[in-house]
Amino acid sequence: MARKPLIAGNWKMNLNHFEAIALVQKLAFSLPAKYFDKVDVTVIPPFTDIRSVQTLVEGDKLLLTYGAQDVSAHDSGAYTGEISGAMLAKLGCTFAVVGHSERRTLHWESNETVLAKTKAALKNGLTPIVCIGEGLEIREAGNQVEYNLEQLRGSLAGLSADEISKVVVAYEPVWAIGTGRVATPADAQEVCKAIRGELTTLASAEVAAGVRVLYGGSVNAKNVGEIVGQPDVDGALVGGASLKADEFATLSAIA
Ligand code: PEP
Repeated sequence: MARKPLIAGNWKMNLNHFEAIALVQKLAFSLPAKYFDKVDVTVIPPFTDIRSVQTLVEGDKLLLTYGAQDVSAHDSGAYTGEISGAMLAKLGCTFAVVGHSERRTLHWESNETVLAKTKAALKNGLTPIVCIGEGLEIREAGNQVEYNLEQLRGSLAGLSADEISKVVVAYEPVWAIGTGRVATPADAQEVCKAIRGELTTLASAEVAAGVRVLYGGSVNAKNVGEIVGQPDVDGALVGGASLKADEFATLSAIA
């Protein structure tokens, strides 16, 4: 099954809503409609920018989509500081990132939490981008495949094949995020291929063949071509380079 590449720009905690508008306007100018036939491009702003991005995307009928960097596991109620899937859906979000390593590490999110957030996203019609990835010690010990598959199983535990068919998985080795140290294309392919194999076990070969598996970790316009050229890498989750309109547009066009 042909999988359309997805380039997702995770802005993290950067850009106020004026800067967000300026970036999306530049992206819209640099990425004419024809590119969207071959690649899906999405931006993942901070919650406070989503409404501004929505206004621009809907007003100008842009083909660019957008999403959120996190989603609450809960529907509504006394959860100070959280944002529900229903709220994000109402703002027109397509995606919700869950289990980013910065959430797993800095906010102690477990696989159980990531699973609950994945379910909350799915329940509200959002596509969860489920992030997994090993730290440096695990990579140096050569245990990266086993570690990532364990995280994948924990983060998708008990989901039906139909639910799994609706997720995107992002393999993001922690040692490559924001460090400038990018995995080799072969490193990315090794783990992404293993992820697809595990999806076959968790769901079916048909589902596994359709799920997009992204690589993330210091992707830029120079290295994206080789990385997304790997047979099991279907795009990229991009942090730092997604804040520069020219570079993000260039790397999206290459993918
Ligand atoms: C990320 O935040 O998911 C990421 C991959 O960041 P960077 O591209 O900056 O390494």
